[in-house]
Amino acid sequence: MVRQHVTGPFAIRVRDIVHRPGEMREFERDVQAPEKWGEGLVSVDAGEPIDLDVRVESVHEGILVSGSADTEYTGVCGRCLTDIARDVRVEFQELFAYPGDEATDFEVQDDHVDLETLVRDAIVLSLPFQPVCQPDCPGLDPATGERLTASTGTEQHEPLDPRWAALQGYTTDHDDEAPRPGVENTEES
Ligand SMILES: [Zn+2]
Repeated sequence: MVRQHVTGPFAIRVRDIVHRPGEMREFERDVQAPEKWGEGLVSVDAGEPIDLDVRVESVHEGILVSGSADTEYTGVCGRCLTDIARDVRVEFQELFAYPGDEATDFEVQDDHVDLETLVRDAIVLSLPFQPVCQPDCPGLDPATGERLTASTGTEQHEPLDPRWAALQGYTTDHDDEAPRPGVENTEES
C-alpha cells in the first residue's frame, strides 16, 4: 500500500525514538475532529476540539502508542429527544509496527505515527447507542407525544410508603409490652 506523507494534525513525529527501544516521549496536543464522528443519536461534530494526551514508546517491533482523548459529543436523548451534550474521555493503546513483510493496521510511516484512525475508532465506539438526558428520563407520553417530567405518572406508589411505615409502627408498638408515651408524642408531632 502506497501512502502519502503523514502530515495531518493527528500525526506525531517520532524520528528521535525510532529503533531506540526504551526511549519514550509524551505529548499533549489540541486537535479538532476533521469530520463528524459517529452515526447514531449522538456524535462528535466536525471541528470539535479534542485534547490528546499521548505517550509514544519505542519497542523492538515499532512504536507503542498509548494515551487518552477528551472531547464532547452532542445529539439527542433517545427517549425524549432533548438536546444533550456530554464530555467523553477515551483511552487507547496500539502498536504502530515498523514497515515490514507482515501487514498491520498501524504502521510507522515517514517517522510518524498517525493517530487519527485510532482516536476516531476509540471515540466512536464509546458513544452511547441509547443516550439519555438523565438516567431516569421518563421519555415522551405515548398518548400526547409530550415530554413527561419526573413528577408525572411515577408518583402513584409514593403514598403507600407512609402508610406502610405507619402500619409497621403500629405492629412494633403492639409487640411491645405497652406504648411508651414519649414515643407516641414524638410520632404525633
Ligand atoms: Zn430525555
